[in-house]
Amino acid sequence: MNIAIDGPAGAGKSTIAKLVSKKLDFIYVDTGAMYRAIGLYFINNNTDVENEEELLKALDKIKIDIAYEDGVQHIYLNKVDVSKEIRNEKVGNMASKTSAYKPVRAKLLDLQRGLAAENDVIMDGRDIGTNILPNAELKIYLTASVEVRAKRRYDELVEKGETPEFETIKKDIEQRDYQDMNREIAPLKQAEDAILVDTSDMTIDEVVDKITELAGR
Ligand code: C5P
Repeated sequence: MNIAIDGPAGAGKSTIAKLVSKKLDFIYVDTGAMYRAIGLYFINNNTDVENEEELLKALDKIKIDIAYEDGVQHIYLNKVDVSKEIRNEKVGNMASKTSAYKPVRAKLLDLQRGLAAENDVIMDGRDIGTNILPNAELKIYLTASVEVRAKRRYDELVEKGETPEFETIKKDIEQRDYQDMNREIAPLKQAEDAILVDTSDMTIDEVVDKITELAGR
């Protein structure tokens, strides 16, 4: 069985998908991490991503692999585990910018479809229901208001001991939504057969229960 979860930045996709995957004994595939790992390579190598030729050359040197350790997804960039390094706004923004390029998306397509073909997966991203797994048995479009999403990210950073600015986070999220929804290739949108789940006023447990129920488990 394949479950696709799409939605904007900060909607809680990964938190929810991880918990549902445990409950159902499915593999959780975080496709955003793959775009982030590619973004990290561009940052580390000062790739001029506006220059298509340079971007293509760099892309050729990138190998992305996924492995599961104790049920947790680890992402490898050219054999190095970068699972932690990709978790910051700089990498997220670079991922959002460069995921708009067709060759970047094409590079990850087989990896994502292959994982879904071989396993029961719950896969989250932006184009899973619309493009990667059009035949997924269950498609969820997970969203929440911009305020709520910014507040969640803000609280997360505070918990990590950082001193973020709410307005900056909100603007960042709005910009990322805009980029992801308005790109030409595989933009973020709700698939026609996806079920909309607005989590603005829901607890994590409520969302997990709802999706488990929709999966018929
Ligand atoms: O979900 P996450 O914030 O980790 O994703 C980082 C970026 O990767 C997104 O803003 C989006 O531009 C891109 N992405 C994508 N398609 C996916 C998953 C992520 O374009 N399936």
